[in-house]
Amino acid sequence: MNPELERLISLQRAENELRRVHTELAQIPQQKAALEAVLLEERGRLDAAREAQSGSQKARRTHEAGLQDLEGKRSKYKGQLTDVKTNKEYTALLHEIESVEREIRGLEDKILVEMEQMEGLAADVKREEGAFKQAEEKHRAAAKVVDDRLQVLNAEAEKLKAERDRVAATVNEDLLARFERIAKKRGTAVAEAKDGTCQECHVKLRPQLYSEVRRNEDITECPACSRILFFEPPVPVVTPETLA
Ligand SMILES: [Zn+2]
Repeated sequence: MNPELERLISLQRAENELRRVHTELAQIPQQKAALEAVLLEERGRLDAAREAQSGSQKARRTHEAGLQDLEGKRSKYKGQLTDVKTNKEYTALLHEIESVEREIRGLEDKILVEMEQMEGLAADVKREEGAFKQAEEKHRAAAKVVDDRLQVLNAEAEKLKAERDRVAATVNEDLLARFERIAKKRGTAVAEAKDGTCQECHVKLRPQLYSEVRRNEDITECPACSRILFFEPPVPVVTPETLA
């Protein structure tokens, strides 16, 4: 094989490897964000349960304070009963007391409802606390996997970049410029020719061109996509007959 062509193929392989690692590296922030989102959602459920519980406690305290006020009002009115001078005033005061007592019963009912909910709300908080703790542990483990992978990929990228630069330094200057020009335009600069076709742009090559490419002796480019073509000889199939 033409040694320049061989070096171009090596360069393309090194670039492909590097690109694979860069592609995976680019997905890491998304993976981290997805993990954070899962944890945040779990945290949101815990916060909601806690808010429901404290909301209920607050409502109960407000009702209790209201109840105290009403009870004060009721005893004040009851105290006034002995002081009234007329029947009319007496009846009016009784009405006031009745109305206050109705309000008291209303608040007592509300307090009872809050008290009945207390146990369920406390159980919700406890359950969500447990679920959040589990989610946190899961998140920690998953984040560690991602961070470890990030380190591996960074090291791999560094190694591959050095390898790519090492190979690139062995390539003839003009060919390297040509390689980079095609790579910039097409993503890849070297394409395998197989079954008479450029494997990158899938254009069928003229038989004359294909047979040239098969020799791997010249730097031949695909007439359709301009990528530099090479031919990978098929691996001989090992059968019991060939072994015998
Ligand atoms: Zn092509």
